[in-house]
Amino acid sequence: MIKVDKTQLQIHLSERYRDIKKPELKAVMMIQDELLSSLRDYLRGIGFIEILAPIIGPATDPGIRGAKQVSFDYYGTQFKIMSSMILYKQMAINSMEKVFALSPNIRLEPDETINTGRHLSEFRQLDLEVAEATYNDVMKIGEDMVTFCIKRIKTNCSEDLEILGRKLKTPKTPFKKIKHIDAVKYLQDKGYNVKQGEEIPWDAEGYLSKSHEDFFWMIDYPKTARGFYDKEDEDNPGILKDFDLCYPEGFGEAISGAEREFKYEKVRQRILNGGESEEHYKWYLDMLKEGTTPSAGFGIGVERFTRYICGLEHIWEAVPFPKVPGVVSP
Ligand code: AMP
Ligand code: MG
Repeated sequence: MIKVDKTQLQIHLSERYRDIKKPELKAVMMIQDELLSSLRDYLRGIGFIEILAPIIGPATDPGIRGAKQVSFDYYGTQFKIMSSMILYKQMAINSMEKVFALSPNIRLEPDETINTGRHLSEFRQLDLEVAEATYNDVMKIGEDMVTFCIKRIKTNCSEDLEILGRKLKTPKTPFKKIKHIDAVKYLQDKGYNVKQGEEIPWDAEGYLSKSHEDFFWMIDYPKTARGFYDKEDEDNPGILKDFDLCYPEGFGEAISGAEREFKYEKVRQRILNGGESEEHYKWYLDMLKEGTTPSAGFGIGVERFTRYICGLEHIWEAVPFPKVPGVVSP
């Protein structure tokens, strides 16, 4: 974890009009531009269609690890700002086989996440979904996509990488896969307070990432750690067909994704078991009841990917107009 002085950061970010003139921030933005076009080119090249992401709606992704959603009055109905468009991807997949969107998300992350170096309260995900796919299929897309983007940035942005002093390595595919249960055991042996059945805390995840020289997957999370939309493995009850991709060098989580649960009754039960109301997810449950296409997909944070590529200490250096948890800035 990084120790951040919140007051100083607040002053610093209120003068972003100064930072924006610096060659380092310009280099980051040039690399980000190349990253965005690489992501789009890669996905279009394998048959994906880009769709427009919703920004508001009656319900949004509840699986956001302690962050708060933003609610507001929408013509007399309570609406949310998207914390992720995941529920909508499952709708889109009934029309097209492979879809993606650059989706803006708002999550009021807990104050202490300012010290992880990888949390913003406003960020963007490249969100994608593939009809009739398994989680192994979309992990393959994830590792090929990440490798494609890094190779292209190394070729097309070498001067910008040099300004930032970043020696970027080309990843080697296929990436290693570690089961959540084994990652937890390993971290417990190293003295981290990590429990089976739960998400891996930020500091422990950072350690795991630091102890790897290349990208790796963490797979098969327990049902108790993730949202109702991730599919339970029928041969392995209690375990989900889901995954995270982790950056090496301590940069932590890059991607989260899964095969989706699409059966109405199973999702309904999981919503209720999670203490939430069916009414809140009405349109989504109605869609499942009518029958929806099975799918798998993931989201990759654009600013986190930029941070890794540029080798930046803090994620707010990886976005022109950053919004950092607990900090009020332009
Ligand atoms: P999640 O579904 O919560 O795993 O989010 C999907 C991806 O979005 C993550 O793997 C990260 O790359 C990115 N992400 C999630 N939360 C944040 C955040 N607070 N700030 C920046 N990026 C984030
Ligand atoms: Mg995640």
